[in-house]
Amino acid sequence: MKKNDSNSLLAVEKQNQILEKISQGIQLIQEPKDRELDLCERKAIEEALKESEERYRSLVDLSPDAILVQIDGKIAYTNKSGMKIIGIDLNDLIGEPIFKFIHPDYRPIIAERLKLLYKGEVENVAPVEIKLLKPNGDIIDIEVNSRLIKYEGKIGVQTIGRDITERKKAEAKIKFIAYHDHLTKLPNRLYFQQLLHEQFDLAKQTNEKMAILFLDIDNFKEVNDSLGHTLADQLLKQVGNRVKFSLPSAAIMARVSGDEFSILLPNIKDVIEVEDIAKNILAACNDHFSLENCWGKVTLSIGISLYPACGQDPEELIKNADLAMNIAKKKGKNTYQVFTNEIKETFERRRKLSEDLKYALSEKQFVIYYQPIINVEKNTINSVEALLRWNHPEEGLISPGEFIPLIEENGLIIPIGEWVLKNACSQVKQWHQEGLSELALKVNLSVRQFEQENFVEMIASILTDLQFQPESLELEITESLLMRNTEYTSEILNKLKALHVKISLDDFGKGFSSLSYLTEFPFDVLKIDRSFTQKMLIDNKSAAVVKTVINLAHQLNLTVVAEGVETEEQFKFLVENQCEEVQGFLFNKPLPVEEFELIYLKRQLT
Ligand code: C2E
Ligand code: CA
Ligand code: CA
Repeated sequence: MKKNDSNSLLAVEKQNQILEKISQGIQLIQEPKDRELDLCERKAIEEALKESEERYRSLVDLSPDAILVQIDGKIAYTNKSGMKIIGIDLNDLIGEPIFKFIHPDYRPIIAERLKLLYKGEVENVAPVEIKLLKPNGDIIDIEVNSRLIKYEGKIGVQTIGRDITERKKAEAKIKFIAYHDHLTKLPNRLYFQQLLHEQFDLAKQTNEKMAILFLDIDNFKEVNDSLGHTLADQLLKQVGNRVKFSLPSAAIMARVSGDEFSILLPNIKDVIEVEDIAKNILAACNDHFSLENCWGKVTLSIGISLYPACGQDPEELIKNADLAMNIAKKKGKNTYQVFTNEIKETFERRRKLSEDLKYALSEKQFVIYYQPIINVEKNTINSVEALLRWNHPEEGLISPGEFIPLIEENGLIIPIGEWVLKNACSQVKQWHQEGLSELALKVNLSVRQFEQENFVEMIASILTDLQFQPESLELEITESLLMRNTEYTSEILNKLKALHVKISLDDFGKGFSSLSYLTEFPFDVLKIDRSFTQKMLIDNKSAAVVKTVINLAHQLNLTVVAEGVETEEQFKFLVENQCEEVQGFLFNKPLPVEEFELIYLKRQLT
C-alpha cells in the first residue's frame, strides 16, 4: 500500500471513530431515562459533543477526499470535496440515488459490496477503483472505500472517494509507452504477442478463423542508407499509417521491429478475404510518399498464415507468416504469399541442409567442376570457370544455386570461398605445369567475402604460395556488390587490380544493370547474362541490348563473354557481333577434373 493510501485509511479510521462517538453521544442525549444526569454533567457532555462535532465537521469538510454518507441507497450527506468531484451542489445531491453517479459498468461491483456490508459479514470493504459518471457526462476514475456507520440514528454507508484520474492517466501513459512503438504509436511486439494470444484463445473457443499478416518493407536497408535515419523514420510512420487505414476496423496492427509490421485479422471468412486485404495494403503503398523535400516509392512483401489451416498455436502462425513473407520476397517482392505445406517443406529442407553444411568442408564433401570458355577467334578453350558442387552423403550432388545462399547466410561462405580459391588455383596451376599454360581461371566471389578481413591479403598469399600467375586469375563479381558500399568496394577492387588479377562483372543484365558501373569500376571482363543470350533471338530489344553492350565494352577495352550459349544460332549471332568468348552447354557443361582433361585433350587432337 502506498503512503498516501495508508494516510487516507488512517484518516478514514479517525473519522469513523469520531462519527461513532457522535452517534453514541446522540444516543446518550436521546436516552436520558437510563441514567439521571445532573445539569452540570449534561452540559459538560453537550459541550464535549459540540466540540467534538465541530472538529469532526472541519476535518470532514476540509478533507481533500470526497466523504459521502448514503442511507437506503440515497445520498444523505457529502462534504465539499464530494460536491466538487461530482460537480453539483449539495442541494441537488441530497436525496439522489447513489447509483446515478456510478458508471454502469461498476454498478454491479458496488451493489455487491453494499450487500456484504449490510449483511454484516464485513465491517468494511477493501478499497476499489471505479469510474464515476458525472452529471455533465464526464467520467472520472476514483478509488472508494466504504464502511457501515450509524448516521442520524439510521444505518448508513459512509464512502470515502479519492479522485485518481491523474494517477490513472500517468499509469495509462506508462502502459502506453511500454506497449507501443514510439515512432508509429502502433502496438509493439510485446503487446502484439499478448493480443494475439487473447485472440487466438477466443478463435479456438468459438471455432472462428483468423489470419496473421507479416509485412516487411522491400530493400529498407538501401532506403534507410539513402534517406538517412530521420527521413526513413518519417517514411516508416507514413507506411504504418497508410497500411493501418487500408485495414478493416477489427484488425490489430503492430510494428514488431525496424521495418516489420504484424497484422492480426480476427474472425475472417476465408483466404480470399485475407488476400483482398493484402492486395489493399499493397495498393495503399503504391502511391509515392512525400518526405520533406523529396519523394519516393516503397513496396512491401507480405506473408500470410491462417488459423487453423497454417498452424496450431500463435508462435507457429507467426513463424509461418514470416516464412511465407520470405517466399514473397523471392517471388520478386511487392507481393503477398499465403503459407503452404510446400513452403514448410522447403524451409525444413533448407534448415537441414544448413545444418549439414557445417560439416561439409571438414568431411570433404565439396567438389569443383570446371566449365570451359571458348575463345571464338582461336576456337580454343582459353579459360575455365570454377563452379562449386556439394556432394551430399544422402542426396548426391547439390547445385550451388541451392546451397550458396545458405552459406552466404550463415557465414560459411568465407571458409568455403577460400577453399574454392585455393583448390581451383592449385588445380589450374597443375594444368599449367602439365602444358595447358594458357589456361586462365575464373572464380566466383560472393558479396560476403568482400567483408572478410584481410580478403586481399588472403588472395595475395594464395598466389604466392602456389606461385600462380595473377594474370591467369579472374575474379567474378556481381552487381549486387556494386550497389552496396561503393567506396569500400572500389578500394578493394583497386587493391585486387594492384595484384594484377583480373576482375569480371558477372551476370550483366540480370538485375538492374547500370552501364555506369562499367566506367566506375576497374573491370577487365564483362559477362553477358544467360537470360540475354537466351532472349536475344526471340526478342529484338534483347538483341539490340546485346549488340550495344558488346560495342560499349569494346570501347572501354573490356573482353566480352556470353554465358548460357545453347544453340548454334545463338553462337552465330554472337560471333557476328564480335563477342570474343562464349560459354555454354553448346560446348560443355561444367565438368569434373578428369572429364575436363579428356575433352581438352580431344579438342587438341581434332
Ligand atoms: P554463374 O556464375 O552465373 O555460373 C554459370 C551458371 O550457369 C552455372 O550454374 C552453369 O552451370 C550454368 N550454365 C552454364 N552454361 C549454361 C547453359 O548453356 N545453359 C544453362 N541453362 N546454364 C548454363 P551453376 O554451376 O549451377 O552455378 C550457379 C551459380 O552458383 C553460379 O552462377 C554462381 O553464381 C554460383 N556459384 C557457383 N560456384 C560458386 C563459388 O565457388 N562461389 C560463389 N560465390 N558462387 C558460386
Ligand atoms: Ca560466374
Ligand atoms: Ca554468370
